[in-house]
Amino acid sequence: MLQLLQDYAAQIGYLVSAALFIFGLKGLGHPRTAVKGNLMGSVGMLLAVVVTLLDRQIIDYRIILGGLVLGSIVGALLATRVQMTSMPQLVALFNGFGGVASVLVAGGSFLEAVGRGQDNLQMNVATAVTALIGGVTFTGSVIAFGKLQEVISGKSITFPGFQFLNVLLFLTCLGVGGAMIGDPGNSLFFWALAGTACLLGILLVTPVGGADMPVVIALLNSYSGLAASATGFVLGNSLLIIAGALVGASGLILTKIMCKAMNRSLGNVLVGGGTATGGAVADADEVYAGKVKASSPDEVAMMLETAQRVVIIPGYGLAVAQAQHVTRDLGNALEARGVTVEYAIHPVAGRMPGHMNVLLAEAEVPYENLKEMDEINPTFEQCDVAIVIGANDVVNPIAREDPTSPIAGMPILNVDKARTVVVIKRSLSPGFAGIPNPLFAADNTVMLFGDGKEAVIGINNALKDSE
Ligand code: NDP
Repeated sequence: MLQLLQDYAAQIGYLVSAALFIFGLKGLGHPRTAVKGNLMGSVGMLLAVVVTLLDRQIIDYRIILGGLVLGSIVGALLATRVQMTSMPQLVALFNGFGGVASVLVAGGSFLEAVGRGQDNLQMNVATAVTALIGGVTFTGSVIAFGKLQEVISGKSITFPGFQFLNVLLFLTCLGVGGAMIGDPGNSLFFWALAGTACLLGILLVTPVGGADMPVVIALLNSYSGLAASATGFVLGNSLLIIAGALVGASGLILTKIMCKAMNRSLGNVLVGGGTATGGAVADADEVYAGKVKASSPDEVAMMLETAQRVVIIPGYGLAVAQAQHVTRDLGNALEARGVTVEYAIHPVAGRMPGHMNVLLAEAEVPYENLKEMDEINPTFEQCDVAIVIGANDVVNPIAREDPTSPIAGMPILNVDKARTVVVIKRSLSPGFAGIPNPLFAADNTVMLFGDGKEAVIGINNALKDSE
Protein backbone atom coordinates (compact mmCIF):
# COMPACT_ATOMS: atom_id res chain seq x y z
CA MET A 1 0.00 0.00 0.00
CA LEU A 2 2.78 2.40 1.02
CA GLN A 3 4.69 1.46 -2.12
CA LEU A 4 1.63 2.24 -4.25
CA LEU A 5 1.20 5.63 -2.62
CA GLN A 6 4.89 6.38 -3.17
CA ASP A 7 4.53 5.46 -6.84
CA TYR A 8 1.54 7.78 -7.23
CA ALA A 9 3.38 10.62 -5.48
CA ALA A 10 6.37 10.13 -7.76
CA GLN A 11 4.21 10.17 -10.91
CA ILE A 12 2.47 13.36 -9.75
CA GLY A 13 5.88 14.91 -9.01
CA TYR A 14 7.05 14.01 -12.54
CA LEU A 15 3.85 15.41 -14.04
CA VAL A 16 4.36 18.74 -12.25
CA SER A 17 8.01 18.79 -13.39
CA ALA A 18 7.00 18.12 -17.00
CA ALA A 19 4.41 20.93 -16.84
CA LEU A 20 7.06 23.28 -15.40
CA PHE A 21 9.44 22.37 -18.25
CA ILE A 22 6.79 23.06 -20.89
CA PHE A 23 5.65 26.39 -19.37
CA GLY A 24 9.31 27.26 -18.74
CA LEU A 25 10.11 26.73 -22.43
CA LYS A 26 7.10 28.85 -23.39
CA GLY A 27 8.38 31.62 -21.10
CA LEU A 28 11.82 31.45 -22.70
CA GLY A 29 10.21 32.35 -26.03
CA HIS A 30 10.04 36.04 -25.17
CA PRO A 31 12.62 38.29 -23.47
CA ARG A 32 9.99 39.74 -21.11
CA THR A 33 9.11 36.31 -19.68
CA ALA A 34 12.50 34.62 -20.16
CA VAL A 35 13.74 35.02 -16.58
CA LYS A 36 10.50 33.57 -15.20
CA GLY A 37 10.67 30.75 -17.77
CA ASN A 38 14.22 29.94 -16.77
CA LEU A 39 13.21 29.84 -13.10
CA MET A 40 10.29 27.52 -13.86
CA GLY A 41 12.58 25.15 -15.75
CA SER A 42 15.07 25.16 -12.87
CA VAL A 43 12.37 24.46 -10.28
CA GLY A 44 11.06 21.65 -12.51
CA MET A 45 14.53 20.12 -12.68
CA LEU A 46 15.04 20.39 -8.91
CA LEU A 47 11.70 18.69 -8.32
CA ALA A 48 12.59 15.97 -10.84
CA VAL A 49 15.91 15.28 -9.11
CA VAL A 50 14.35 15.19 -5.62
CA VAL A 51 11.52 12.88 -6.75
CA THR A 52 13.98 10.54 -8.50
CA LEU A 53 16.25 10.39 -5.46
CA LEU A 54 13.30 9.52 -3.20
CA ASP A 55 11.50 7.23 -5.64
CA ARG A 56 14.12 4.91 -7.07
CA GLN A 57 15.77 2.18 -5.09
CA ILE A 58 19.09 3.86 -4.54
CA ILE A 59 21.83 1.37 -3.75
CA ASP A 60 24.40 3.82 -2.43
CA TYR A 61 23.88 7.55 -1.88
CA ARG A 62 27.62 8.07 -1.39
CA ILE A 63 28.38 7.51 -5.08
CA ILE A 64 25.62 9.94 -6.07
CA LEU A 65 26.97 12.52 -3.63
CA GLY A 66 30.48 12.03 -5.02
CA GLY A 67 29.19 12.55 -8.56
CA LEU A 68 27.23 15.63 -7.50
CA VAL A 69 30.25 17.24 -5.82
CA LEU A 70 32.59 16.43 -8.72
CA GLY A 71 30.07 17.57 -11.35
CA SER A 72 29.34 20.79 -9.43
CA ILE A 73 33.05 21.63 -9.16
CA VAL A 74 33.63 21.05 -12.90
CA GLY A 75 30.44 22.98 -13.76
CA ALA A 76 31.33 25.94 -11.52
CA LEU A 77 34.87 26.09 -12.91
CA LEU A 78 33.62 26.00 -16.51
CA ALA A 79 30.90 28.59 -15.86
CA THR A 80 33.27 31.07 -14.25
CA ARG A 81 36.37 30.50 -16.40
CA VAL A 82 34.98 30.13 -19.93
CA GLN A 83 34.80 33.37 -21.91
CA MET A 84 31.47 34.41 -23.42
CA THR A 85 33.05 34.06 -26.87
CA SER A 86 33.87 30.39 -26.15
CA MET A 87 30.28 29.50 -25.19
CA PRO A 88 29.54 27.60 -28.43
CA GLN A 89 32.42 25.21 -27.72
CA LEU A 90 31.10 24.73 -24.20
CA VAL A 91 27.59 24.07 -25.49
CA ALA A 92 29.04 21.55 -27.95
CA LEU A 93 30.86 19.83 -25.09
CA PHE A 94 27.71 19.77 -22.93
CA ASN A 95 25.79 18.12 -25.78
CA GLY A 96 28.56 15.51 -25.95
CA PHE A 97 28.42 14.92 -22.19
CA GLY A 98 24.65 14.44 -22.48
CA GLY A 99 25.14 11.88 -25.26
CA VAL A 100 27.76 9.83 -23.47
CA ALA A 101 25.82 9.97 -20.17
CA SER A 102 22.77 8.54 -21.94
CA VAL A 103 24.83 5.71 -23.46
CA LEU A 104 26.38 4.83 -20.10
CA VAL A 105 23.14 5.01 -18.09
CA ALA A 106 21.11 3.08 -20.67
CA GLY A 107 23.93 0.56 -21.20
CA GLY A 108 24.41 0.05 -17.46
CA SER A 109 20.70 -0.58 -16.86
CA PHE A 110 20.43 -2.83 -19.90
CA LEU A 111 23.44 -5.00 -19.01
CA GLU A 112 22.29 -5.26 -15.40
CA ALA A 113 18.75 -6.24 -16.44
CA VAL A 114 20.10 -8.82 -18.90
CA GLY A 115 22.27 -10.26 -16.11
CA ARG A 116 19.16 -10.68 -13.95
CA GLY A 117 17.14 -12.03 -16.88
CA GLN A 118 14.75 -9.05 -16.53
CA ASP A 119 15.27 -7.36 -19.90
CA ASN A 120 12.41 -6.95 -22.35
CA LEU A 121 11.93 -5.90 -25.98
CA GLN A 122 11.18 -2.23 -25.18
CA MET A 123 14.31 -1.94 -23.08
CA ASN A 124 16.51 -3.66 -25.65
CA VAL A 125 15.29 -1.56 -28.57
CA ALA A 126 15.56 1.65 -26.53
CA THR A 127 19.11 0.77 -25.46
CA ALA A 128 20.13 0.17 -29.08
CA VAL A 129 18.61 3.54 -30.09
CA THR A 130 20.39 5.27 -27.20
CA ALA A 131 23.74 3.69 -28.07
CA LEU A 132 23.38 4.81 -31.69
CA ILE A 133 22.21 8.40 -31.11
CA GLY A 134 24.24 8.93 -27.92
CA GLY A 135 27.44 7.63 -29.53
CA VAL A 136 27.02 9.88 -32.58
CA THR A 137 26.24 12.85 -30.31
CA PHE A 138 29.28 12.24 -28.11
CA THR A 139 32.02 12.07 -30.73
CA GLY A 140 30.27 14.50 -33.09
CA SER A 141 30.18 17.06 -30.28
CA VAL A 142 33.82 16.47 -29.37
CA ILE A 143 34.78 17.12 -33.01
CA ALA A 144 32.55 20.25 -33.08
CA PHE A 145 34.30 21.42 -29.88
CA GLY A 146 37.72 20.75 -31.42
CA LYS A 147 36.83 22.70 -34.56
CA LEU A 148 35.44 25.71 -32.71
CA GLN A 149 38.34 25.69 -30.20
CA GLU A 150 40.66 25.44 -33.24
CA VAL A 151 42.32 22.31 -31.82
CA ILE A 152 41.55 20.79 -35.22
CA SER A 153 41.06 22.60 -38.51
CA GLY A 154 37.72 24.38 -38.79
CA LYS A 155 37.75 23.65 -42.51
CA SER A 156 35.84 20.83 -44.14
CA ILE A 157 37.91 17.63 -44.01
CA THR A 158 36.79 15.02 -46.53
CA PHE A 159 38.21 12.13 -48.51
CA PRO A 160 36.88 10.26 -51.53
CA GLY A 161 34.01 7.98 -50.61
CA PHE A 162 33.37 9.38 -47.13
CA GLN A 163 29.63 9.55 -47.78
CA PHE A 164 29.64 5.91 -48.84
CA LEU A 165 31.55 5.04 -45.65
CA ASN A 166 29.00 6.96 -43.56
CA VAL A 167 26.11 5.02 -45.12
CA LEU A 168 28.05 1.79 -44.55
CA LEU A 169 28.67 2.67 -40.90
CA PHE A 170 25.01 3.57 -40.41
CA LEU A 171 23.92 0.25 -41.92
CA THR A 172 26.47 -1.54 -39.70
CA CYS A 173 24.91 0.20 -36.68
CA LEU A 174 21.47 -1.01 -37.74
CA GLY A 175 22.80 -4.56 -38.26
CA VAL A 176 24.65 -4.69 -34.93
CA GLY A 177 21.66 -3.08 -33.18
CA GLY A 178 19.40 -5.79 -34.65
CA ALA A 179 21.83 -8.47 -33.48
CA MET A 180 21.90 -6.90 -30.01
CA ILE A 181 18.09 -6.94 -29.78
CA GLY A 182 18.03 -10.54 -31.04
CA ASP A 183 20.74 -11.73 -28.65
CA PRO A 184 20.80 -9.37 -25.66
CA GLY A 185 22.88 -11.84 -23.64
CA ASN A 186 25.94 -11.07 -25.75
CA SER A 187 27.17 -7.72 -24.35
CA LEU A 188 29.71 -7.46 -27.15
CA PHE A 189 26.95 -6.29 -29.51
CA PHE A 190 26.16 -3.33 -27.24
CA TRP A 191 29.78 -2.19 -27.13
CA ALA A 192 30.22 -2.78 -30.87
CA LEU A 193 27.14 -0.66 -31.56
CA ALA A 194 28.28 2.18 -29.28
CA GLY A 195 31.79 2.06 -30.82
CA THR A 196 30.52 2.11 -34.42
CA ALA A 197 28.16 5.00 -33.57
CA CYS A 198 31.12 6.92 -32.11
CA LEU A 199 33.06 6.42 -35.34
CA LEU A 200 30.02 7.57 -37.33
CA GLY A 201 29.78 10.71 -35.17
CA ILE A 202 33.38 11.63 -36.01
CA LEU A 203 32.87 11.09 -39.73
CA LEU A 204 29.59 13.01 -39.78
CA VAL A 205 31.06 16.19 -38.32
CA THR A 206 34.62 16.31 -39.72
CA PRO A 207 33.41 17.17 -43.24
CA VAL A 208 31.33 20.07 -41.93
CA GLY A 209 33.18 23.32 -42.10
CA GLY A 210 32.83 27.07 -42.31
CA ALA A 211 29.37 28.46 -42.25
CA ASP A 212 27.53 25.20 -41.41
CA MET A 213 28.86 24.90 -37.85
CA PRO A 214 25.89 26.55 -36.07
CA VAL A 215 23.47 24.15 -37.75
CA VAL A 216 25.51 21.17 -36.58
CA ILE A 217 25.60 22.41 -32.99
CA ALA A 218 21.81 22.86 -32.94
CA LEU A 219 21.39 19.41 -34.46
CA LEU A 220 23.71 17.75 -31.93
CA ASN A 221 21.72 19.47 -29.20
CA SER A 222 18.60 17.86 -30.61
CA TYR A 223 20.35 14.46 -30.81
CA SER A 224 21.40 14.70 -27.14
CA GLY A 225 17.72 15.21 -26.23
CA LEU A 226 16.62 12.23 -28.33
CA ALA A 227 19.28 10.05 -26.69
CA ALA A 228 18.02 11.11 -23.25
CA SER A 229 14.46 10.39 -24.30
CA ALA A 230 15.42 6.90 -25.47
CA THR A 231 17.18 6.37 -22.11
CA GLY A 232 13.84 7.25 -20.48
CA PHE A 233 12.33 4.23 -22.25
CA VAL A 234 15.17 2.03 -20.97
CA LEU A 235 14.63 3.17 -17.38
CA GLY A 236 10.86 3.38 -17.66
CA ASN A 237 11.14 7.02 -16.54
CA SER A 238 8.33 9.12 -18.02
CA LEU A 239 9.91 12.46 -17.12
CA LEU A 240 13.16 11.65 -18.92
CA ILE A 241 11.12 10.69 -21.99
CA ILE A 242 9.24 14.01 -21.91
CA ALA A 243 12.28 16.20 -21.09
CA GLY A 244 14.39 14.48 -23.75
CA ALA A 245 11.63 14.87 -26.32
CA LEU A 246 11.37 18.59 -25.49
CA VAL A 247 15.11 19.07 -26.01
CA GLY A 248 14.99 16.97 -29.18
CA ALA A 249 12.06 18.94 -30.63
CA SER A 250 13.34 22.39 -29.66
CA GLY A 251 16.78 21.48 -31.01
CA LEU A 252 15.18 20.47 -34.30
CA ILE A 253 13.22 23.72 -34.50
CA LEU A 254 16.41 25.67 -33.84
CA THR A 255 18.17 23.59 -36.49
CA LYS A 256 15.48 24.55 -38.97
CA ILE A 257 15.82 28.26 -38.12
CA MET A 258 19.61 28.00 -38.40
CA CYS A 259 19.32 26.12 -41.73
CA LYS A 260 17.22 28.95 -43.10
CA ALA A 261 19.67 31.55 -41.83
CA MET A 262 22.61 29.73 -43.41
CA ASN A 263 20.74 28.71 -46.55
CA ARG A 264 21.42 25.01 -45.92
CA SER A 265 18.79 22.32 -46.38
CA LEU A 266 18.14 20.11 -43.35
CA GLY A 267 18.45 16.94 -45.45
CA ASN A 268 21.86 18.11 -46.58
CA VAL A 269 22.97 18.66 -42.99
CA LEU A 270 21.44 15.38 -41.78
CA VAL A 271 23.56 13.28 -44.10
CA GLY A 272 26.52 15.42 -43.12
CA GLY A 273 29.21 16.62 -45.42
CA GLY A 274 27.32 18.50 -48.12
CA THR A 275 28.56 21.86 -46.89
CA ALA A 276 28.75 25.32 -48.27
CA THR A 277 32.52 25.36 -48.13
CA GLY A 278 34.46 25.45 -51.33
CA GLY A 279 33.42 27.80 -54.10
CA ALA A 280 35.39 30.68 -55.48
CA VAL A 281 37.07 33.04 -53.04
CA ALA A 282 37.96 36.46 -54.45
CA ASP A 283 41.41 37.87 -53.90
CA ALA A 284 41.39 40.38 -51.02
CA ASP A 285 43.75 42.81 -52.80
CA GLU A 286 41.48 42.86 -55.83
CA VAL A 287 38.46 43.67 -53.68
CA TYR A 288 40.05 46.32 -51.46
CA ALA A 289 43.02 47.92 -53.30
CA GLY A 290 42.61 51.70 -53.48
CA LYS A 291 38.93 51.62 -52.53
CA VAL A 292 38.90 51.48 -48.73
CA LYS A 293 38.38 54.77 -46.86
CA ALA A 294 39.60 54.98 -43.25
CA SER A 295 37.76 57.31 -40.89
CA SER A 296 38.14 58.66 -37.33
CA PRO A 297 35.83 58.76 -34.29
CA ASP A 298 35.43 62.55 -34.73
CA GLU A 299 34.39 62.15 -38.36
CA VAL A 300 31.89 59.40 -37.47
CA ALA A 301 30.46 61.56 -34.67
CA MET A 302 29.93 64.36 -37.20
CA MET A 303 28.00 61.99 -39.48
CA LEU A 304 25.85 60.88 -36.56
CA GLU A 305 25.03 64.45 -35.53
CA THR A 306 23.04 64.98 -38.71
CA ALA A 307 21.43 61.51 -38.79
CA GLN A 308 17.77 60.89 -38.04
CA ARG A 309 17.78 57.10 -38.14
CA VAL A 310 20.76 54.96 -37.12
CA VAL A 311 20.95 51.16 -37.23
CA ILE A 312 23.62 49.36 -35.22
CA ILE A 313 24.69 45.95 -36.52
CA PRO A 314 26.51 43.86 -33.92
CA GLY A 315 28.65 40.86 -34.84
CA TYR A 316 31.20 38.47 -33.41
CA GLY A 317 33.78 41.28 -32.96
CA LEU A 318 31.42 43.10 -30.57
CA ALA A 319 31.47 39.99 -28.36
CA VAL A 320 35.28 39.72 -28.59
CA ALA A 321 35.71 43.39 -27.69
CA GLN A 322 32.99 43.19 -25.00
CA ALA A 323 31.64 46.38 -26.51
CA GLN A 324 27.98 45.81 -25.61
CA HIS A 325 27.87 48.33 -22.73
CA VAL A 326 29.59 51.17 -24.62
CA THR A 327 27.37 50.40 -27.61
CA ARG A 328 24.30 50.86 -25.42
CA ASP A 329 25.82 54.18 -24.22
CA LEU A 330 26.18 55.22 -27.87
CA GLY A 331 22.56 54.26 -28.55
CA ASN A 332 21.38 56.22 -25.50
CA ALA A 333 23.43 59.29 -26.46
CA LEU A 334 21.95 59.28 -29.95
CA GLU A 335 18.40 58.79 -28.67
CA ALA A 336 18.92 61.72 -26.30
CA ARG A 337 19.60 63.79 -29.43
CA GLY A 338 16.31 62.66 -30.95
CA VAL A 339 17.81 60.05 -33.28
CA THR A 340 15.89 56.79 -33.86
CA VAL A 341 18.23 53.93 -32.95
CA GLU A 342 17.65 50.27 -33.82
CA TYR A 343 19.78 47.14 -33.59
CA ALA A 344 19.72 44.70 -36.52
CA ILE A 345 20.08 41.10 -35.37
CA HIS A 346 21.18 38.38 -37.80
CA PRO A 347 20.24 34.87 -36.57
CA VAL A 348 23.83 33.59 -36.83
CA ALA A 349 25.76 36.73 -35.91
CA GLY A 350 28.44 35.82 -33.40
CA ARG A 351 29.31 32.25 -32.61
CA MET A 352 26.14 30.79 -31.13
CA PRO A 353 22.41 31.06 -31.69
CA GLY A 354 21.08 34.13 -29.90
CA HIS A 355 24.62 35.41 -29.18
CA MET A 356 23.84 39.05 -29.96
CA ASN A 357 20.48 39.00 -28.13
CA VAL A 358 22.24 37.74 -24.99
CA LEU A 359 24.98 40.38 -25.16
CA LEU A 360 22.62 43.28 -25.79
CA ALA A 361 20.18 42.07 -23.12
CA GLU A 362 23.13 41.94 -20.69
CA ALA A 363 23.77 45.61 -21.52
CA GLU A 364 20.06 46.33 -20.98
CA VAL A 365 19.38 47.51 -24.51
CA PRO A 366 15.55 47.71 -24.71
CA TYR A 367 14.40 44.62 -26.62
CA GLU A 368 11.83 46.68 -28.54
CA ASN A 369 14.85 48.19 -30.33
CA LEU A 370 16.21 44.80 -31.47
CA LYS A 371 14.97 44.04 -34.98
CA GLU A 372 15.09 40.65 -36.68
CA MET A 373 16.64 40.41 -40.14
CA ASP A 374 13.35 40.04 -42.05
CA GLU A 375 11.88 43.06 -40.28
CA ILE A 376 14.81 45.45 -40.70
CA ASN A 377 16.03 44.49 -44.18
CA PRO A 378 13.34 46.34 -46.17
CA THR A 379 14.10 49.52 -44.17
CA PHE A 380 17.85 49.93 -44.76
CA GLU A 381 17.21 52.39 -47.62
CA GLN A 382 15.73 54.75 -45.02
CA CYS A 383 18.73 54.42 -42.71
CA ASP A 384 21.06 57.44 -42.53
CA VAL A 385 23.97 55.71 -40.84
CA ALA A 386 24.47 51.97 -40.35
CA ILE A 387 27.17 51.21 -37.77
CA VAL A 388 28.59 47.71 -38.18
CA ILE A 389 30.47 46.68 -35.03
CA GLY A 390 32.60 43.57 -35.51
CA ALA A 391 30.23 41.93 -38.01
CA ASN A 392 31.53 40.65 -41.32
CA ASP A 393 29.98 37.54 -42.95
CA VAL A 394 26.44 38.49 -41.95
CA VAL A 395 26.72 41.80 -43.87
CA ASN A 396 28.67 40.48 -46.86
CA PRO A 397 26.73 41.39 -50.06
CA ILE A 398 28.66 38.73 -51.96
CA ALA A 399 26.18 36.19 -50.52
CA ARG A 400 23.48 37.95 -52.56
CA GLU A 401 25.49 38.68 -55.66
CA ASP A 402 27.95 35.84 -56.38
CA PRO A 403 26.42 32.37 -56.80
CA THR A 404 29.90 30.79 -56.71
CA SER A 405 30.81 32.26 -53.32
CA PRO A 406 31.11 29.87 -50.33
CA ILE A 407 28.31 31.83 -48.61
CA ALA A 408 26.14 32.16 -51.75
CA GLY A 409 22.46 32.35 -50.89
CA MET A 410 23.00 32.91 -47.15
CA PRO A 411 20.48 35.61 -46.17
CA ILE A 412 22.37 38.72 -45.03
CA LEU A 413 21.56 42.07 -43.48
CA ASN A 414 21.32 44.49 -46.43
CA VAL A 415 23.53 47.06 -44.72
CA ASP A 416 25.04 48.20 -48.04
CA LYS A 417 21.67 49.79 -48.90
CA ALA A 418 22.00 52.35 -46.08
CA ARG A 419 22.97 55.92 -47.03
CA THR A 420 26.23 55.73 -45.11
CA VAL A 421 27.90 52.69 -43.57
CA VAL A 422 30.50 52.82 -40.79
CA VAL A 423 32.36 49.55 -40.25
CA ILE A 424 34.24 49.15 -36.98
CA LYS A 425 36.86 46.38 -36.93
CA ARG A 426 40.58 46.10 -36.35
CA SER A 427 41.72 45.34 -39.90
CA LEU A 428 40.50 44.03 -43.25
CA SER A 429 40.79 40.43 -41.99
CA PRO A 430 37.99 38.12 -43.05
CA GLY A 431 35.34 36.71 -40.71
CA PHE A 432 34.40 33.10 -39.95
CA ALA A 433 33.82 32.13 -43.61
CA GLY A 434 37.30 33.38 -44.55
CA ILE A 435 36.29 35.55 -47.53
CA PRO A 436 36.79 39.26 -48.40
CA ASN A 437 33.84 41.60 -48.02
CA PRO A 438 33.13 44.13 -50.82
CA LEU A 439 31.03 46.18 -48.35
CA PHE A 440 34.30 47.52 -46.87
CA ALA A 441 35.27 48.93 -50.29
CA ALA A 442 31.85 50.33 -51.20
CA ASP A 443 31.45 54.03 -52.07
CA ASN A 444 29.08 54.64 -49.15
CA THR A 445 31.28 52.86 -46.56
CA VAL A 446 33.95 54.25 -44.24
CA MET A 447 36.12 52.03 -42.04
CA LEU A 448 36.84 52.90 -38.42
CA PHE A 449 39.80 50.64 -37.70
CA GLY A 450 40.34 49.62 -34.09
CA ASP A 451 39.11 47.44 -31.26
CA GLY A 452 35.29 47.56 -31.11
CA LYS A 453 35.12 48.89 -27.56
CA GLU A 454 37.87 51.50 -27.99
CA ALA A 455 36.36 52.74 -31.26
CA VAL A 456 32.86 53.14 -29.79
CA ILE A 457 34.29 54.90 -26.71
CA GLY A 458 36.06 57.23 -29.15
CA ILE A 459 32.75 58.05 -30.90
CA ASN A 460 30.98 58.54 -27.55
CA ASN A 461 33.68 60.98 -26.39
CA ALA A 462 33.55 62.87 -29.68
CA LEU A 463 29.76 63.17 -29.40
CA LYS A 464 30.09 64.47 -25.82
CA ASP A 465 32.70 67.04 -26.90
CA SER A 466 30.37 68.34 -29.58
CA GLU A 467 27.50 69.01 -27.14
P1 NDP B 1 32.46 37.19 -38.54
O1 NDP B 1 33.11 36.01 -37.92
O2 NDP B 1 32.09 37.12 -39.96
O3 NDP B 1 33.40 38.48 -38.40
C1 NDP B 1 33.77 38.96 -37.16
C2 NDP B 1 34.68 40.15 -37.38
O4 NDP B 1 34.92 40.72 -36.10
C3 NDP B 1 36.03 39.80 -37.95
O5 NDP B 1 36.10 40.12 -39.32
C4 NDP B 1 37.03 40.58 -37.10
O6 NDP B 1 37.78 41.46 -37.92
C5 NDP B 1 36.15 41.39 -36.16
N1 NDP B 1 36.70 41.48 -34.81
C6 NDP B 1 37.28 40.51 -34.08
N2 NDP B 1 37.68 40.99 -32.90
C7 NDP B 1 37.34 42.29 -32.89
C8 NDP B 1 37.49 43.33 -31.93
N3 NDP B 1 38.09 43.15 -30.76
N4 NDP B 1 37.02 44.56 -32.25
C9 NDP B 1 36.42 44.79 -33.44
N5 NDP B 1 36.25 43.84 -34.38
C10 NDP B 1 36.71 42.61 -34.09
O7 NDP B 1 31.22 37.57 -37.61
P2 NDP B 1 29.67 37.72 -37.94
O8 NDP B 1 29.03 37.91 -36.62
O9 NDP B 1 29.44 38.71 -39.01
O10 NDP B 1 29.27 36.34 -38.56
C11 NDP B 1 29.23 35.15 -37.80
C12 NDP B 1 29.92 34.03 -38.53
O11 NDP B 1 30.13 32.99 -37.61
C13 NDP B 1 29.08 33.47 -39.66
O12 NDP B 1 29.90 33.07 -40.73
C14 NDP B 1 28.42 32.25 -39.01
O13 NDP B 1 28.11 31.26 -39.94
C15 NDP B 1 29.54 31.80 -38.09
N6 NDP B 1 29.10 31.03 -36.94
C16 NDP B 1 27.98 31.41 -36.25
C17 NDP B 1 27.54 30.67 -35.20
C18 NDP B 1 26.25 31.04 -34.52
O14 NDP B 1 25.54 30.17 -34.05
N7 NDP B 1 25.95 32.33 -34.43
C19 NDP B 1 28.28 29.47 -34.71
C20 NDP B 1 29.49 29.20 -35.46
C21 NDP B 1 29.85 29.97 -36.53
P3 NDP B 1 39.20 42.01 -37.44
O15 NDP B 1 40.03 40.83 -37.11
O16 NDP B 1 39.68 42.81 -38.60
O17 NDP B 1 38.94 42.89 -36.23
